[in-house]
Amino acid sequence: MRLNFAWQIIIGTVAIQVAMVAVLMFSGISQVQQNQSQMLERFAEQQGRLLSSALTPGLAYADPAMLQDLLDLVADDSHVLYAVVLDAQDQPMASVGISPEAIPESGDRIRTAPGQIEILRDIELAGQPLGTLAVGYSTDAIDALSADLLQRNVLLAMGVLVLSMVAAIVFSLVITRRLRLLNQGAKALQVGRLDHRIPMRSNDEFGDLARTFNDVAAHLGTTQTTLEQQNQQLNRSVARLESMLGGANAILWEANPATHEWEFVAGDTRHLLGFPARNLGRGELRARHIHPSDLPRVQNAARESRKQSRTVDYRFAHRDGQWIWLRDILSWATDGDGRESLRGLTLDITAHRRTTDALAESENRYRDVVDHISEVIFRTDADGRWTLLNPAWEHLTGFSVEETLGRPMCDFVAPEDTEDARSFCATLLEGGSHAHSEEIRLRTREGDIRWVSVYASARFNERGEVTATFGTMTDISDRKQAEDEIRRLAFFDGLTHLPNRTLLHDRLSQTLGNTERSHLHGALLFIDLDNFKDINDTLGHAVGDDLLRQVAERMQDSVREADTLARLGGDEFVVILNDLHPDPARAATQAEAVGRKLIDLLRDPFELAGQKRHVTPSIGATLFSGRSLGVEEILKQADLAMYRAKNAGRNTVRFYDPDLHRAVEARFELESELRHALDQDHFSVHYQPQVDASGAVMGAEILLRWMHETRGAISPAEFIPVAEQTGLIVPIGRKVMRAACEQLAAWQHQPAFRDLTLSVNVSARQFRHRHFVRDLAAILDETGAPGERLKLELTESMLLENVETVIAHIEELRTLGIEFSLDDFGTGYSSLAYLKRLPLAQLKIDQSFVRDVLDDPNDAAIAQMVVNLAHTLDLDVIAEGVENDDQRAFLFGLGCRHFQGYLYGHPDTLAVLEAQVLRQAGNRHPAAHR
Ligand code: C2E
Ligand code: CA
Ligand code: CA
Repeated sequence: MRLNFAWQIIIGTVAIQVAMVAVLMFSGISQVQQNQSQMLERFAEQQGRLLSSALTPGLAYADPAMLQDLLDLVADDSHVLYAVVLDAQDQPMASVGISPEAIPESGDRIRTAPGQIEILRDIELAGQPLGTLAVGYSTDAIDALSADLLQRNVLLAMGVLVLSMVAAIVFSLVITRRLRLLNQGAKALQVGRLDHRIPMRSNDEFGDLARTFNDVAAHLGTTQTTLEQQNQQLNRSVARLESMLGGANAILWEANPATHEWEFVAGDTRHLLGFPARNLGRGELRARHIHPSDLPRVQNAARESRKQSRTVDYRFAHRDGQWIWLRDILSWATDGDGRESLRGLTLDITAHRRTTDALAESENRYRDVVDHISEVIFRTDADGRWTLLNPAWEHLTGFSVEETLGRPMCDFVAPEDTEDARSFCATLLEGGSHAHSEEIRLRTREGDIRWVSVYASARFNERGEVTATFGTMTDISDRKQAEDEIRRLAFFDGLTHLPNRTLLHDRLSQTLGNTERSHLHGALLFIDLDNFKDINDTLGHAVGDDLLRQVAERMQDSVREADTLARLGGDEFVVILNDLHPDPARAATQAEAVGRKLIDLLRDPFELAGQKRHVTPSIGATLFSGRSLGVEEILKQADLAMYRAKNAGRNTVRFYDPDLHRAVEARFELESELRHALDQDHFSVHYQPQVDASGAVMGAEILLRWMHETRGAISPAEFIPVAEQTGLIVPIGRKVMRAACEQLAAWQHQPAFRDLTLSVNVSARQFRHRHFVRDLAAILDETGAPGERLKLELTESMLLENVETVIAHIEELRTLGIEFSLDDFGTGYSSLAYLKRLPLAQLKIDQSFVRDVLDDPNDAAIAQMVVNLAHTLDLDVIAEGVENDDQRAFLFGLGCRHFQGYLYGHPDTLAVLEAQVLRQAGNRHPAAHR
C-alpha cells in the first residue's frame, strides 16, 4: 500500500499531536487528581482535628445533646454526607445524615470512595480515648470542577489538533507540489525529455534543488546532443567501413597477438570466408583453413609485423570447398594501457591472382611467340626511338637488338626512303593518324637493301598526345622483287623496254587530268614506221626487232623527261606531250615541231645486219586539253591522223583536226616565207611620231613592215610571234636596229632632225640573245649614230624570265647613252620590286587602256596609276594609241605629257615624218623657213 507523502505528513503530524495531547492530559489529570486528593485529605485532617477538638468537651461530658448540636452545625454544610460520634465503646452518641452500616475500625483515618471522603478520628483527652468521630463529605463539587477542567483541556487539545492538521495539510500541499514538480522533472529526464526545466519559484533548498536539477538536465542535454552526434558519426563511419569492406571484399580485424583470437572483426566474414566471424574467432580454427604450405609464411608474417607492417598472400579453404587467395596486411598496435594487439586487413585477391597468373602465363606465351616469330615487332618512344625489338630484327638487318635500341627509327632506312620514312614517323608521332602502314627499304649491316612492310600504330595518353608507337615489320623483299618483275612484264614492252599499251593508257589518263587542271594542252603523236614490214620480211624478225630497238633508243633520247614514249606493238610508237601552249595553234606548232624533230632523228640510216637502211615514220598528231575526250578516243584520233600522214606521202606529220593542220601549215609557210623575206629584204620600217605636251614631234617609234609579194603589207602583230618562235626575230631585229641607227646618224647632219629620238621595239628573245649588246654596240659604232637618241622599247613579258640578264644588258647599254622604255605597261605582271631595279627612262601606257580611258573607269584608273608610278620612280610617261583630243585632254589631266597615236600621225614613211617635223618647225619659226 502506497501512502502519499502529504498523508504521511498529515498522519504523522496528527499522531504526534494526539500522543502529545494524551500525555499532557494524562499527566495534567493525574496531577489534578493527586492535588485534589491531597487537598481533600488535608482538608479532612483539618476538619477532623477541628471537629475532634470541638467534640472533645461533649464527649468528655458525655453530653449527646451538645454533640448533636455540634453535629447539626456541621451538617449545615451541604457537603457533609454524615457525621457520627461514637463513645469509647463505639456506641453512637450523636449523628447526622445516614451513616454507613459499618463504621470502619480505627486505623484507616481517611478513606476515600468515589464521590465521597470519609474521615475517622479518634478523640482523646490527655491520652484517654473518649470516642471516635466519623464524618463523610461529598466530593461531587470538586469532581465536577475537575471534570470541567478536563473537558476544557480536551477541547483545547482538539483545537490544537485541528490547527496542526490544517498546518500539516497546508505544509504537505506546498511540499508535495514542489515534490511533484521535481518528480515531473525526474520523470521527464527518465523519458529523455532533456529540455524539461523545473520552474524555480522559491529561493530555498527546493529552489536550489530545482536549479541543480535544471543544470544537470541542461548538461545532460548538451552531453546527449554531443553523444548523439558522435553516435551518428560513429554509425556512419561504421556503416561506411562495413560497406567499404564489403565493396572491397575485405574484412578488418584485431586479434590477440598471442592466441590470434579475434577480438574485433568488421566486414562480412561469411561472404569473404564462408563462415560467420564467431566460427573463425579462434586462431587455430583459422589456421586449419589455411593451405599447409602457406601457413608458415602467414605465421611468420604475423610475427614479423610487430616490427614493420607486413603483407602476406595465402590460400584459404572457403566453406564452398574452393581455395581462395587472401591477402593479409598485418601490423601491431598498442593501446593506452600498453596492451598489444595484432591488426589485419584481409582481402580476397582471388580474381586478381587469377588475372596475374593468367597474365604471366600469356606473357610467357607472348614472349615465346615474339622471340620466335619471323616478323619484327617493335616499339618506339614518342621521339621515334626504338624501345623494343624482337630477335627477328637482328635476323632481318644484321644489327643486334642491343645496339639498335635507343636509336632513331630512320637511322636504318635506306637513303632512297629516308624522306618517306620521316613523313611516316611524323604522321604517326604527331598523332595525325592512329595506324599507318608503309613499304620502305632498310639498309642491313652488310649494306644490302631489304624491303619491309611497316605497320605501326600510335599509343596516346589521356591528353591525346602520342606516347609511343607499336608495330610490326615484315620482310617483303622477295615479294617486291616479284612485283617489280610483274610490273615490268605488265607495264613495259619486253623488246624495247618502253612503256607498253597498259602503261600508256595510264600515263595518258594522267596527262588528261593534268591538262584539265593547268588549262594547258597535251598532244599525242602516233608514230608508224613506213615499210617496216618489208624489212621484217626481207631481213627477218630478229633484224626487225633490232630496228625497233634502235628506233626506240633514238626517239627516247629526244623525248623530254615529262613526256612519255611508248610502244603500242609492232612498229607503232606513241609519244605523249605535256605542258603545251594554252593556245591551240601554238600548241599544235609545238607538237608539230616535236614530230618534225622525230622525223629528223630517223633520217640518218640505221645499221641493220651490216647494211645501212633508211627508215621513215608517218606521224599522226592530235591535241587535247581536259577530259572531254577519253583515252581511247584520243588514240583513235592520232591513229587516224597517222593514216593521213601516210596518205600524204609518208615521212610527215598530220593533225587529226584539219583546221589545226591548216593553221600549223600556214604557220610553217609563214616561217618559210619570213626566211625568204629576210633573204630578199622585203622588210621596211615606218615611223610614228611621238609628241610632247605642245604637240611638237620629239621623235618617232619605228614599226616594222613586211611588204609581201602577193599579200601586200603584213602587220608585225601577225609575223613577230612566228619570228620570235623560230628565232628569225634576231636577224630581223638587227635589220630594224640598223635602219634606226642609220637614220639617227643621217639626222645628225640635218639640224631640223638632229634632236629627234627613235624608239625601237625589241622582243624578249632578241634582247636576251647573247650577242645583242655586242651587235648593237657594233651597229652604233658602224653607223655613228648617237646612242642617246636611241630608245629601246621592252615589254613586260621580258621580265618574266631571267630578270638579272635583262638588268645587266640594260646597264651595259645605258653606258652607250641608250635609254629604255617599258612598252605596253599595265598589260603584264610586272613586279613593282623589279620595276624599281630596272634602270628605265620611260613607261608607256598601253593603247588598250588609252582606247577606253574615257569610258572605262578601270582603264582610267590604270592610266592614272601608271602616271603616278612614273612620277614616283622619276620616269617619263608616254601614252600610245591616242586617237582624239578628248583622250589626249584626259591623259593630260592625269599628268601625262608625251603622246603617240593617230591623233598626231599614223606610222608612215620617213618622208611623211620629216615633212611633219619641218612643218612644225616652220610654224614655230616662219621667218627661218622662208
Ligand atoms: P606596239 O609596240 O604596241 O606598237 C604600237 C602599235 O599600235 C602599232 O601597230 C601602231 O601602228 C599602232 N598604233 C599606233 N597609234 C595607234 C592609234 O592611234 N590607234 C591604233 N589603233 N593603233 C595605233 P603595228 O605597227 O601593227 O605593230 C604591232 C606590234 O608589233 C607593235 O606593237 C610591236 O609590239 C610589234 N613590232 C612592230 N615593229 C617591231 C619591230 O621592229 N621589232 C619588234 N620586235 N616588234 C615590232
Ligand atoms: Ca612599241
Ligand atoms: Ca605598245
